[in-house]
Amino acid sequence: PPAIVWFRQDLRLADNPALAHAVESGRPVIPLFVLDDLTPGEWKPGGASRWWLHHSLAALRDGLARLGAPLVLRRGPADVVVGKLAAETGAALVTWNRNYDPASIERDSRLKAELQKSSVEAVSCNGNLLNEPWTVLAGAGNPYKVFTPYYKAVLARTKAGEPRPAPDRLAAPAASPESDTLEEWGLLPTKPDWAGGMRAFWKPGEPGALERLERFLSEACEGYAQGRNIPGMDGTSRLSPHLHFGELSPRQVWHAAMGLLARDKRPSCRENVESFLREIIWREFSHGLLYHFPHLPDRPLNPRFEDFPWQPDPKLMAAWKRGRTGYPIVDAGMRQLWETGWMHNRVRMIVGSLLVKHLLQPWQAGERWFWDTLVDADLANNSAGWQWIAGCGADAAPYFRVFNPVLQGEKFDPDGRYVRRWVPELARLPDKYVHAPWTAPPMVLSGAGVVLGKTYPAPVVEHGKGRERALAAFAQVKAGA
Ligand code: FAD
Repeated sequence: PPAIVWFRQDLRLADNPALAHAVESGRPVIPLFVLDDLTPGEWKPGGASRWWLHHSLAALRDGLARLGAPLVLRRGPADVVVGKLAAETGAALVTWNRNYDPASIERDSRLKAELQKSSVEAVSCNGNLLNEPWTVLAGAGNPYKVFTPYYKAVLARTKAGEPRPAPDRLAAPAASPESDTLEEWGLLPTKPDWAGGMRAFWKPGEPGALERLERFLSEACEGYAQGRNIPGMDGTSRLSPHLHFGELSPRQVWHAAMGLLARDKRPSCRENVESFLREIIWREFSHGLLYHFPHLPDRPLNPRFEDFPWQPDPKLMAAWKRGRTGYPIVDAGMRQLWETGWMHNRVRMIVGSLLVKHLLQPWQAGERWFWDTLVDADLANNSAGWQWIAGCGADAAPYFRVFNPVLQGEKFDPDGRYVRRWVPELARLPDKYVHAPWTAPPMVLSGAGVVLGKTYPAPVVEHGKGRERALAAFAQVKAGA
C-alpha cells in the first residue's frame, strides 16, 4: 500500500522530513496538495499569497514529475480530502510537516485520530522550525515572552545537521489518483492582472529559493547588519516568502550560514551573518508565540489593550492603503507593497506605527491589509509584527514611543533613493525636502513639479498633533489598567 505525503507549507523536495519519512518506508509515494478554501475560516491565503502559491505549486509539480511521482491536487476541507484519498488508494501511511497555527493544529489532530481509527499510520514531522515551540521554554516551563533570553537559549541549543538532499527518484503507485489541474483553481488574478510587478520581482518555488539563498550568502558578509535598515538598498535576503511556503527550510538556511562562518573568519563576516541568524530566530520566536498564544492574530497579548480607544475610519485606511498619506517614506512603503508584494522591514515598522499611532486605526486592520497584499503573509510573523508595533505584543515597542516618519525617512533613506523609486512624483525634489515636501519653499516645489494637495497629498495628520492624540489615547488605557 502507498504512502501519502501531504504537502502544506513545505513546498520543497530537499530537507523535507515528511517526504523523507515516506521514502524511507519503502512504499510507493503519492504527493498531495489540498486547496482548502471552501472551509469557513478567517485566515485563508490572501490575493498575493494565492499568486505565489500557484507558482510554487507549479515548481513542485515539475520537480515531482521529474522524480517520477505526479503531484495530486485536490480541493475541499483538507482533513476530509486526505481521509478520502487514503481510503481510495488504500494508503497505509500519511505524512506531513507540522504547522503551528491553531486551525491547523485542531484539524491535524482530528485527522490523525480519524486515520488511526482506519488503521492508517499518521506521522507528523518538524520541517518548518529549527526547534519545536514546546522544547524551548523559560525557567518555570513557561513560554518566553522576551526575545533576548529566547535568542540566547536558541543559539545555545540549535545544531542544524547536514540537510537531507532531495530524493533521486520516487516510486509511484501503478495508477496515479485523479487530480485537479492547477489552472482550474484560478489562483492567479485575471482582470485586472495586478501581478505584473510581482512577476518581475520574484521566482517562487524551490529552485528560486535556493538561488536566492546562495546569492544572499555570497554577499551577506559585506554588510547585512547595516544594510538591513536601509530600504533603498538590496540589503536583506528576501527569503521571507520562500520560508513561509517552505520552499527551503530554516535548517538549510542555518546550515548554509554556519558553513559560511566556517569558511570566512573575518569578524565583520561573523557580525553580519549573526545579525541575519538573529532574524531567523525572530521567526522562530513569532511561531512560538502563535503556538503558545493562539489568539495572537486577533487579540492583544497584553490584555490592557483590549479596550484601546481606536477610531476606525475608512477614509484614513484608504489613504494609507493607497500610499497617499502625505508622508513620503510611508507612501513609498505602501506602494512597494502593492507593486511587489513585499516591503522592507524598517518600512513595515514605519507604516505600521503611523497607522496605529498617528491615525489611531486598530492594528488588526493593518494586519488584514498585509495579509492580503504580502507574498510572505505569515500568520505568526504578521500578527507578532503588528502586535509589536502596536505596543501590545511580546517584547513590544512601547506604545508611547511614536516614530516620527520624517526623521525615520531622513535617517534610513538619507539620499531619498527609496522614496524617489516608489513615489516618482517627488523624484525631482532636493534631498533636503524629499521626506517633508510641505517644508519646501514654493519655488523649489514648482521647480520639481510638485503641487501639494494635487500631484501629492499634504500629510493626513500633522506629526505633532498625531503624536499628542496617540499619547492621549494611551493615557486612557493606562488610567483604566
Ligand atoms: P531578512 O532580514 O533577510 O531576514 C531573514 C528572515 O528572517 C526573513 O525572511 C524572515 O523569515 C525572518 N525575519 C526577519 N525579520 C523578522 C521579524 N521581525 N519577525 C519574524 N521573522 C523575521 N515577516 C513575514 O515573513 N511575514 C509577515 O507577514 C510579516 N509581517 C510583518 C508585519 C509587520 C508589521 C512587521 C513590522 C514585520 C513583519 N514581518 C513579516 C517581519 C519582517 O518584516 C520580514 O520577515 C522581512 O522584512 C522579510 O524580508 P527578508 O526576507 O529580506 O528579511
